[in-house]
Amino acid sequence: MNRNNSKVLILGGGMAGITAALALSRLNIAVTLIEKSASLGGMVRHFCCKATDVCQQCGVCLLNDSLQALGKADNIEVHLQTEVTDLTMDDKKFLYTFSRPGGGGEGRAEALLLATGFTPFRAEDKPQYRYGLFPNVITGLDLEKQLRETGAALRPSDHAPPASMAFIQCVGSRDLHLNHPYCSQVCCAYALRMANLIQHKRPQTEITFFYMDLQTFGKDFPLFLEQAEKRIRFIRTIPGEIQKGENDQVLVTFQDDSGTSSRKEAFDLAVLSIGIRPGTGLEFFMEKLGVPLNEDGFLDPGKENLSSKGIFLAGTVRGPKDIARSITEACRTAEEMAAYLKAGSL
Ligand SMILES: Cc1cc2nc3c(=O)[nH]c(=O)nc-3n(C[C@H](O)[C@H](O)[C@H](O)COP(=O)(O)OP(=O)(O)OC[C@H]3O[C@@H](n4cnc5c(N)ncnc54)[C@H](O)[C@@H]3O)c2cc1C
Ligand code: SF4
Ligand code: SF4
Repeated sequence: MNRNNSKVLILGGGMAGITAALALSRLNIAVTLIEKSASLGGMVRHFCCKATDVCQQCGVCLLNDSLQALGKADNIEVHLQTEVTDLTMDDKKFLYTFSRPGGGGEGRAEALLLATGFTPFRAEDKPQYRYGLFPNVITGLDLEKQLRETGAALRPSDHAPPASMAFIQCVGSRDLHLNHPYCSQVCCAYALRMANLIQHKRPQTEITFFYMDLQTFGKDFPLFLEQAEKRIRFIRTIPGEIQKGENDQVLVTFQDDSGTSSRKEAFDLAVLSIGIRPGTGLEFFMEKLGVPLNEDGFLDPGKENLSSKGIFLAGTVRGPKDIARSITEACRTAEEMAAYLKAGSL
């Protein structure tokens, strides 16, 4: 049977888990990093670089830098396609069993970091936008993948570049009907940066942004927005519905500026800016370790003093945040973990 006895066990090999593993490794603390999928990087590995002729500070390329550093670290043991099947605490030691294709094993660690990330909102859960039914309604995640893989925004129905695009913000966030009242923090930034990139590549693309509120990002946001407002039409309303138009266009229904009557407008492509939902499998950590969930369903140390038990959290498993904030939080958490381990060894 396989045995792992690193000081630290990290669950989740996304930006937060990798960053914490590197920070701990630099402090000479041995880490076992368990990732359930076949590759490291989490959601970020699907995203595109949003640079125009200048970098747009989207943070996506930080993943490559971290993966390269991880490849050189000799005190990080990475297990892909691996899942922890049992987890118990015994006198401040974590005992766990894991399974993976071709076998499993068990391990022990003195501290545990949960960095299992988030799930993107399922656009099908807003049926009025007809995602999955109309080919030319896509999500922000689909657009990230498309730009990453092809370098262009294309209509799925005919693979032609769209002449007109609608971005619909807050899909699955700030939504009381869905019981998701919180802001996902990242979708204004990724949508605006992608809109900016598409217009940089094809300046004739007409882009309309339907929004409720704009979440600011970065110190240069006011300047970014001032430039964007020259090329993008901003309409402060969230559309009620998408219907089928002619020639595979989509018909977006929304309230006009007066808010008294509704209008319909046809677009070649609609992009639903989906947000961040709690990750899956969090009940396991609740059940095994007593880690509470907050009212939005994310793991939350709350009033529990989890770190005194050697349990730490980092990244979107705690709530919506972008890459930069996930990295900052993971570095801070790694320092807290090092202090916890040092205190335990005295
Ligand atoms: C459409 C979209 C576009 C975005 N674009 C940007 C952008 O341009 N810039 C930006 O800064 N942010 C962007 N974000 C936010 C960004 O995705 C997050 O900040 C980032 O992914 C957080 O990293 P994480 O490690 O917390 O989580 P994740 O990326 O979710 O990684 C978690 C990892 O844990 C693994 N895992 C889950 N459960 C287990 C388990 N039980 N055991 C082991 N492993 C497990 C998962 O497989 C995954 O690899 C975007 C978000 C969305 C939805
Ligand atoms: S931060 Fe984003 S925009 Fe800048 S180079 Fe990296 S991936 Fe490209
Ligand atoms: S970041 Fe923007 S689009 Fe996303 S939920 Fe917040 S306000 Fe809405």
